[in-house]
Amino acid sequence: MKMTNESEEEKPIDMEFKLKAALKCSGSLSGEMDPSEIEKFVTSCNTDLLRRGAPPGCGAEIVKWNVAKDKIELKIVSDRFVRAHDALLRVKKELGKLLGKHRIGIRGIEIEKYKIALEWKAEGELKIHKLPFVKEIKQEKERLELLLDVDESALDKRIPDRLIRLVEDKRDAARWKGKSEHWELLFESDKKPFLFDKDPTEEMLQRDWIQHAAGRGQYIYGPQLTRIFRALEKILLDEILMPLGYKEMIFPKFVAWDVWKRSGHAKGIYPEAYYVCTPKTRDPEYWEDVMDYFKVTNEVPVDMIMGKIENVGGMCYAQCPPFWVFLQGKILANETLPITVFDRSGTSYRYESGGLHGIERLDEFHRVEIVWIGNKQQTIAHSKELREMYRHIFNDILDIEWREAWVTPWFMAQEGKAGLAELKEVGTVDYEAVLPYSDKWLEFQNVSVNGDKYPKGFSVKLQSGEELWSGCSGVGLERWAAVFLAQKGLDTENWPEKFKTIVGELPEVFKFL
Ligand code: ATP
Ligand code: ZN
Ligand code: MG
Repeated sequence: MKMTNESEEEKPIDMEFKLKAALKCSGSLSGEMDPSEIEKFVTSCNTDLLRRGAPPGCGAEIVKWNVAKDKIELKIVSDRFVRAHDALLRVKKELGKLLGKHRIGIRGIEIEKYKIALEWKAEGELKIHKLPFVKEIKQEKERLELLLDVDESALDKRIPDRLIRLVEDKRDAARWKGKSEHWELLFESDKKPFLFDKDPTEEMLQRDWIQHAAGRGQYIYGPQLTRIFRALEKILLDEILMPLGYKEMIFPKFVAWDVWKRSGHAKGIYPEAYYVCTPKTRDPEYWEDVMDYFKVTNEVPVDMIMGKIENVGGMCYAQCPPFWVFLQGKILANETLPITVFDRSGTSYRYESGGLHGIERLDEFHRVEIVWIGNKQQTIAHSKELREMYRHIFNDILDIEWREAWVTPWFMAQEGKAGLAELKEVGTVDYEAVLPYSDKWLEFQNVSVNGDKYPKGFSVKLQSGEELWSGCSGVGLERWAAVFLAQKGLDTENWPEKFKTIVGELPEVFKFL
């Protein structure tokens, strides 16, 4: 891991690798070869081949070997510089050349035992219970031991290296979470008189402006709140998107796994995703038992359905990732930069579990997503311009009490971007506003500079060869409305003049008896 920031710099932790493996050959070795030939080979491995690229005195060593019929058994011990599994692959390649002279080939690798030990100064309570490709984990005070369950194909896929990276990431994440300085106040508006002290969602339910929908964390918005949402959207369009030359696009709302693999969401989205499945077949006969069950019970047999469907991805979570497929593998012409586009074509979904609260925290919500792409300097400059313009909306049109805070997601540190985050070049600005009824601050939107993360993930390049950067900003309509209504109330006569004019008269359609 490369850390650019001095204070965050970690000394490489010490590692020890112990590997017992056998190279399986196509013929018996005992008859064909003089044992001294193999002995010479092992010596040359230990003095040269397994030390290449490592500092003096470091590298890997074959500490034990044995020829048994058509197998060569090896025990390799190493440090972090030539990891034992890399050493084994080097040995396989070189030995292949030697055996070739005797018309013997190497059929494959059998791994009997592979143990990795890391010097381990874990933060706080971090306990690692389970890891993929690991049979046994021993976590002591300053040492982490992993007994691996790997075969040759796992070595080819560099699973041991990725496992080490994974536990280091877990440790860094724990360390980052424990820090408090990843939230930093950047700007604070004037104090504002609050005209309301109730929960606006409760009040809107009372007035029949909204109704609970059938799904969890989902509402049906009546004509009044819909009018307010559209007014907020219009402000965003008139004050920011049109003056800055933004063009509208329509991003997909079903997100296939390949997108989340590239955007990085596949690393952690699972507890919050809304999963999407397709039928294993659209043959009505295959589904007849399900249909019949419903017809006789009036219950949908969810368990039966689960066996007949296949997961293919999830619903829109962060909005911009599926857009990047539009640019995937392409080279952008220099003159197109900066590119500024936005999407407001549909809903986003997050499983918020017990955190659901009114229109502030929903499972289904509406958001305008703004995306800009440029070289590094353009991308950073554009985010500053956006922030200026947002300031104007919140101060002069909505007239709310709000603040801007710099937040550094821990993944930045994890991806070796701590230095960039420190310079405030890559990272997120959260916009928060106080909710008078609860005295809590709510994040209602964000502005993020994502560095080269998306262009890299989706292999997008720039004609000039310069590094391509991007940023995005998610404007949550429910959150904007929640914040405004919580501070100003539902009675339009109390609203700031400018906003009142944009909204116009709130439509009254339904009356219930
Ligand atoms: P929070 O910390 O409140 O969960 P977040 O950090 O998960 O927010 P982001 O991932 O930054 O939110 O999403 C961008 C924007 O999307 C938020 O600023 C907000 O406007 C909106 N948003 C996110 N989650 C929800 C939700 N559950 N309900 C309504 N709006 C949401
Ligand atoms: Zn985004
Ligand atoms: Mg969240």
